[in-house]
Amino acid sequence: MSSSDLDKSIQYIKGVGPKRAQTLGRLGIHTVRDILYYFPRTHQDRSRVDEISNLTDGDTTMVKGIVFNIKSYKTRGWKNVFEISIGDGAGILQVKWFNRPYQSDMFQVDDHVFLYGKVSLYKQSLQMVNPEFEIVTEEDGSARSVGIIPVYPLTEDVRQTSFRKLVKTVVDGQYQKVEEIFTDDIIKKHKFVPITFAIKNIHFPDSLDSLEESRRRLKYEEFFLFETAMALRKRSIKEVNGNKFKIGANVENHIYKLFPFKLTNSQKEVIGEIHEDMCSVRPMNRLLQGDVGSGKTAVAVYALFVAIANGFQTAFMAPTEILAEQHYRTLGAMLLQAEVKILFLTGGGKAKIRKENIERIKQGEIDLVIGTHALIQEDVEFKKLGLIVIDEQHKFGVMQRTRLRQKAHKLQPDVLVMTATPIPRSLSLTVFGDLDISTIDELPPGRTPVETYRVTAKKENDAYGFIRKEVEKGRQAFVVFPLVDESEKLDLKSATVEAERLRDEVFTGLNVGLLHGQMKSDMKDLIMTDFINHKYDILVSTIVIEVGIDVPNATVMAIEHADRFGLAQLHQLRGRIGRSSYQSYCLLFGTPKSLESRQRIKTMLATNDGFKIAEEDLRLRGPGEFFGTRQHGLPEFKIGDIINDYAILKMARDDAFKLVKEGHKSENPKKQMLLKRITESFKDKLDLMNTG
Ligand code: ADP
Ligand code: MG
Repeated sequence: MSSSDLDKSIQYIKGVGPKRAQTLGRLGIHTVRDILYYFPRTHQDRSRVDEISNLTDGDTTMVKGIVFNIKSYKTRGWKNVFEISIGDGAGILQVKWFNRPYQSDMFQVDDHVFLYGKVSLYKQSLQMVNPEFEIVTEEDGSARSVGIIPVYPLTEDVRQTSFRKLVKTVVDGQYQKVEEIFTDDIIKKHKFVPITFAIKNIHFPDSLDSLEESRRRLKYEEFFLFETAMALRKRSIKEVNGNKFKIGANVENHIYKLFPFKLTNSQKEVIGEIHEDMCSVRPMNRLLQGDVGSGKTAVAVYALFVAIANGFQTAFMAPTEILAEQHYRTLGAMLLQAEVKILFLTGGGKAKIRKENIERIKQGEIDLVIGTHALIQEDVEFKKLGLIVIDEQHKFGVMQRTRLRQKAHKLQPDVLVMTATPIPRSLSLTVFGDLDISTIDELPPGRTPVETYRVTAKKENDAYGFIRKEVEKGRQAFVVFPLVDESEKLDLKSATVEAERLRDEVFTGLNVGLLHGQMKSDMKDLIMTDFINHKYDILVSTIVIEVGIDVPNATVMAIEHADRFGLAQLHQLRGRIGRSSYQSYCLLFGTPKSLESRQRIKTMLATNDGFKIAEEDLRLRGPGEFFGTRQHGLPEFKIGDIINDYAILKMARDDAFKLVKEGHKSENPKKQMLLKRITESFKDKLDLMNTG
């Protein structure tokens, strides 16, 4: 048989008929190879059989015995109970299964059985409830089910024991046919076990060590395939010709004059990297990360100005209208003196005006368009788009990023994506694995780190008094609530109701404004502008102010029900203050109820470092939740865990990128084959990424 046997349908396996094939299909199993690569969720160590007389309450273990009594009955709650009693010569054990009437046909008195499950105490005697079982004949009784046993992730209609039997048949018959995809040098370098060994032992390990070695090898392989696809995608973006911008000394001088401050060293370094990208004919595809307040906007201005000075149009996309408006204001102030034609484009507003604006973009009259996702709607077309800047990338999916890139026909625009929340290193190798990464790792000078405190229910009035004192010193404060309107289900304070209470009862005599996401956008803008101009001392708000907002005079961020917010949100909110030389304070109200929310508050109290917080956030929530959207583009790894297996991921990344870099030149047929195979197996994924 040749290796392509592995790609045959599972129906070729003895005992798998059309019906079973259908059930397996629902688990994503279609071919023989799929079974070999359907990895156990965990293993049970059944290398030992316990004697019944040695059992104690709470043990999870395996016992073997002979059935001497069988009965079925209903409990008072009308549950079906099927019960057997077994003995092993020295002790006896009651065994019950609930609601499995079909099992009564399977057992007979005098059967030899293995049981694996948890022992509990019931009415003075030991029992096992719903254990896994295997009925054996006397002859094979000593060998079956013993050892380290795989437990598979299955659905209701597939039983663990029968599935395990199927896998055993397939593994025993086919494991030697699995192809080794790696070259010897990779295997030697990492001291990997051969793939055949790994496949056999991931299912039915000889020992815990063999299992571990197999897992390591298979995780690496999974990451490696993915990272090779990433490397190929990255190369395919770089292969096309983009715009080659010219940056003369006078352009640079002009830009530096636009900034009302001296750039930090870190900003300069990052600008250097962007400079190099933009001057090269390869399109820029860069992620700019830096903590809240590190001054990413200035870096964006540099890139925008370069593109505009070279006669191109540019687009700047932000996730919320408030933030887009703010960029419009600050960039406007900086770039208008340079006679840049800027347009603010949103989804709302009068249709006629929008149509006119779109026409102006199309005619190339506009140099810089600032807006929300409205920028990527179908009807927006550019004449000569040279650069796209996407702010707060973590809010945008891979698809949106790709769609915007496509707006620029013929020439690939340069793309600079910025993220407020630093990217945990595991994600920078996966979700953002196709991007070059620049990091601003220093804050502008003169900032004093924000002090963070918890405010318990008893201390609320003290905290309000503290806010009043800050206002009396001439500062301003944010008070943030999780909801807009009072909700009946959740007993949470909400922004609208609380704004009134705070205005009328707590902060009497002070100017209290209210801002929330359900307001019309010109209303939001008005209130925000009024707050910036200090018409309000205190701004009561919802999470709409989460990202980007820049009001240096604000020194207090009070967050009500802080336990309701995610870590990234809390860190973002805290990033709204501490933007001047005044000491700022973040006050976390509320009582954390879950372990996780306690952990979040603890992290906020412990550090101001966005990089640490991002890692912790990812650890607490897991990659899927971290983004809060299915569009994040993170693949579901079957065996690898990007957080816990980071070291393996990094190793695989380095090797994969090296392979892609050298692969074309390589004479080694194995390398060539590997590249070909990966390109084929990831074709769908690569296509998806390219076309969005
Ligand atoms: P973020 O990285 O969070 O987007 P911003 O670009 O909004 O940060 O910058 C935060 C604040 O710091 C702004 O008020 C900005 O004007 C100011 N700023 C940026 N760079 C510098 C610098 N080099 N020196 C002083 N202030 C700076
Ligand atoms: Mg920003």
